[in-house]
This record gives sequence, structure tokens and C-alpha cells, in this order.
Amino acid sequence: MEKLKYALFRFMYKRNGFDDLSRAILSWTLVLCVISLFVRNSIFNAIVLAILTYNMFRVFSKNISARRKENEKFLYFLKPYAIQYQQRKTHVVFRCKNCGQIIRVPKGKGKIDITCPKCRTIITKRT
Ligand SMILES: [Zn+2]
Repeated sequence: MEKLKYALFRFMYKRNGFDDLSRAILSWTLVLCVISLFVRNSIFNAIVLAILTYNMFRVFSKNISARRKENEKFLYFLKPYAIQYQQRKTHVVFRCKNCGQIIRVPKGKGKIDITCPKCRTIITKRT
């Protein structure tokens, strides 16, 4: 058992491994696998298999810097949604379309003009 552990450790050395993006892809594909049990469509199954193959490619990839960039892009995309989920009862969270700054405004204020604190762009939004 110890030998197997060591072999696995050596195999994964200098490889990307599981990051946030690959864990997210894996959980989505698990959901898709359950759906595919009921759908029974070969194209759908091929797509699920392709996504899983891509995920395995990412996990075993030795180009760590490229995989890290993909993961950072994913986290950048996900961040406002994560904050929105945490504060869903009190705030509306979105990203400025001009500069990408995350902006958080209180909920239930109606249609308001919001000035981006970073680039001073005025955004009209219903909260
Ligand atoms: Zn801005």
C-alpha cells in the first residue's frame, strides 16, 4: 500500500492535480452523468465523456502555469457570484462592465445610478 502511494505521488509530481476548476468540472460532470442515465442519448454521452477527458487532461497536465491561468480566470469569473450568494439577502453584487471592479449595493432600493468607485462609470441598475 505504501509502495502504491509512493508511485502515485511520483506520477503526480510536477503535474497540475485537482484545482478549483477541475473540482467544479468534476462535480458538474457527475450531475451530467446522472442525467445521462435518463436521457440515453449517445451525443449527450459523448459530450459528457469529452468534458471528463478534458478534465483529466487538466489534472495530469504538466503545463502548470497555463492550468493556473485557466483556474484564475475561472475564480475571477466566479468571485461576484460567490459574494452574491453569501450576501443574497441584503446586497446585489455585480462586476463593472468597464473595468471589472466588483460592486456591491444594498438590495431593495429600486432603480438607482451607481458610480463605479474605480473608473467612475455610471451604471443604472434595479436593486
Ligand atoms: Zn468600473
